[in-house]
Amino acid sequence: MIDEEWLDRRISRGFDRADLRRILTCDHSEAEAVFEAARRLREEVFGRKAFIRAVVEFDNSCHCNCLYCGMRRENTETVRFKLNADQILSVARRAHENGIRTFFLQSAESDDYGAGWLADVITRIRELGMGVILCVGIHEAGALDLWYEAGARKFILKHETADGELFAKMKPGATLENRLSWLRTLREKGFDIGSGTLLGLPGQTIDSLVSDLVLMKELEVDMSSVALFLPARGTPLQDQPSGDVDLGLRFVAALRLYLGDPLIPATSTFERLREGGQLGCFQAGANVITVNMTPPGLRDDYQLYTDRFYVGLRHARRTIERAGLEETTESDLLG
Ligand code: SF4
Repeated sequence: MIDEEWLDRRISRGFDRADLRRILTCDHSEAEAVFEAARRLREEVFGRKAFIRAVVEFDNSCHCNCLYCGMRRENTETVRFKLNADQILSVARRAHENGIRTFFLQSAESDDYGAGWLADVITRIRELGMGVILCVGIHEAGALDLWYEAGARKFILKHETADGELFAKMKPGATLENRLSWLRTLREKGFDIGSGTLLGLPGQTIDSLVSDLVLMKELEVDMSSVALFLPARGTPLQDQPSGDVDLGLRFVAALRLYLGDPLIPATSTFERLREGGQLGCFQAGANVITVNMTPPGLRDDYQLYTDRFYVGLRHARRTIERAGLEETTESDLLG
C-alpha cells in the first residue's frame, strides 16, 4: 500500500524501477498520497510558487514525418505558415507587458528560416529583458553556437518515448540514440536541457514509461514534461484513442518525486481532455504553465493534434491561484 510512510522512505533512499511502476499503476486513494508528497517536495524546493511562460509557434513546415503529428511532411492538408521577426517581436512585447519574462520559441523541424535569422530574433527578445527557451528540433552544431551567443540558454528536445523500437516506428528515419546524443550535445554547448514524454502512444507500455523517467533522470534534465497523446486528423494515428489523464497525472507526480527539482509544466493536453486537468498537474507537482500567444488566425495550423486547447493568460493565472500558488517569474523561482 502506498502511503506517506512508503513515500517518505523512497524519497530519502531513492526510487527503483519497481517503485516507479507502483506509482504509475496505483489506485485512486494511493494517488492522493502520491500527489500530496509531490506537492510537499515541490514546496521544499521552490516554495509555494509557479511561473508563466509565453510560447509563439513561428513555423510549421517540417521535414520529419512523425506518425502522430498533424504537421508531418506527408500531411498535405496542413496549411504551412511562418511568422516574420516583427510579428514574433510584437508577441514578445505583449507578453512582457503582461509581466511574463520567459519567452518560448517553438517551431516544427525545418532549416528554411536560417540559423542567423533566428539568432537575430533571439537577440531582439533578450533586449526586451526576457529569457529565451528554444524548442525547434535538431539543427547543426554551428546553429546551436549562434543561438547560444545570441542569448538563448534553454533548449527543449523531447525524446517522446524511451522505447527505441517504438521511437523508430513513430518517427520514421530517426533514432532514439541520435536524439539522446543531441541532448548531450546541447548540454555540452552550455544549454539547460528539457525533455519529455508523449504518453498514450499506441504500443507504449508502463515499463517503457518507467524507462522514460529513468532516462530523464540519467540526462539530469532541467525541464521535464509529459503531454498526452491526442490524435491529429490526416495522420496514420488519427483513429487511435487519446492518452489516459489519470495515468498522466501520476506520471507528473512521479517526475517530481523521482527527479526532484526540474521545472515541470502543466501541459495543455490535460486541459483539452479534462476540464481542470492543468490544475490537476499543479496538484501533482507541476510548477510552470505556458500561455499560447501564436496569432489566432494561424495557430490552428500548428496542428500537433486536432482541436487544440489554447491556454490564455486569464486561465493560466486562475489555475495557479486555484492551486494555492503565487505567480512569480522564472528567475525569481530559480533564485
Ligand atoms: S512532431 Fe515535430 S518533428 Fe515530428 S512531424 Fe511534428 S513538428 Fe515535425
